[in-house]
Amino acid sequence: MTAQILDGKVLAQRLRAGFREQCGALAVRGVRPGLAVILVGEDAASKVYVHNKVKACEDVGLYSEKLVYPADIAPAVVLDKIAELNADTKVHGILVQLPLPAHFDEAAVLEAIAPKKDVDGFHAENVGALAQGNPRFIPCTPYGVMKMFEQSEIDLSGKEAVVIGRSNIVGKPMALLLINAGATVTVCNSRTRELRAHTRRADILIAAVGKPRFVTADMIKPGAVVIDVGINRLPDGKLCGDVDFDAAREIAGQITPVPGGVGPMTITMLLANTIEAAERESGK
Ligand code: NAP
Repeated sequence: MTAQILDGKVLAQRLRAGFREQCGALAVRGVRPGLAVILVGEDAASKVYVHNKVKACEDVGLYSEKLVYPADIAPAVVLDKIAELNADTKVHGILVQLPLPAHFDEAAVLEAIAPKKDVDGFHAENVGALAQGNPRFIPCTPYGVMKMFEQSEIDLSGKEAVVIGRSNIVGKPMALLLINAGATVTVCNSRTRELRAHTRRADILIAAVGKPRFVTADMIKPGAVVIDVGINRLPDGKLCGDVDFDAAREIAGQITPVPGGVGPMTITMLLANTIEAAERESGK
């Protein structure tokens, strides 16, 4: 069996076309959704992510601001800027690109963002709402995965779901969303014993590890839905996921490629959250 490819690129394009229409409807009411992105330091990958986020905003008609600070900036400067953006009516969403330099208290920075503008969904208040099954802003990557399930009509209720990875950005919120959707969820980490025994049971397998081709074909239940969140840069410069795609696609029922799977969905859901924030603020 060769797995059906879950194409995030095509889905992202379709959703973004809808966002342009939503922005058009908001413009009639004098509202333009706005996103402010804060970048601290010179991390090459972070620069690319921030560039792509700002470009995606422009493409669908959102207002965007990019604020770039040197790596040695005093945290107070960034916190003051966040306070200013919290009060800025042009800005409906605020995103601080992670990771921050070591002298920053990352949690304190995330908590400084007004929860109603926390379009990354990392503020404790929004994490709590998600844990209670009443999400306000869903972190963009797991939100993108849920959108792929929805659009592909993959029913999660009663399914065995295994998430490899427990980060605050991907693994944990992904697990909460799957729990909320009625799946039976196992979350694995670097200390998990007999990882393969868990993954082999999974109807839905989500890899968010950060290790190239970590999930091999023998770890996959035949017919499973395999979602590869990993983005790894190989020595030859090519991108590769956490799943050994070529072998896995012969076992899985449905699978996401890297690139072109979850990646394009992450920024798409950032746009969705920002538009949602603007709609809420304007009382729609
Ligand atoms: P992370 O914070 O480094 O977390 C990695 C997780 O994998 C940790 O929970 C770790 O366990 C677990 N892990 C490591 N080795 C393991 C092993 N041998 N067995 C089982 N679990 C193991 O990474 P992240 O931020 O969640 O990101 C994960 C991957 O997704 C990365 O490749 C990242 O680039 C990618 N990513 C992609 C997108 C996208 O848009 N597609 C967005 C965000 C991230 P411990 O907690 O025990 O250390």
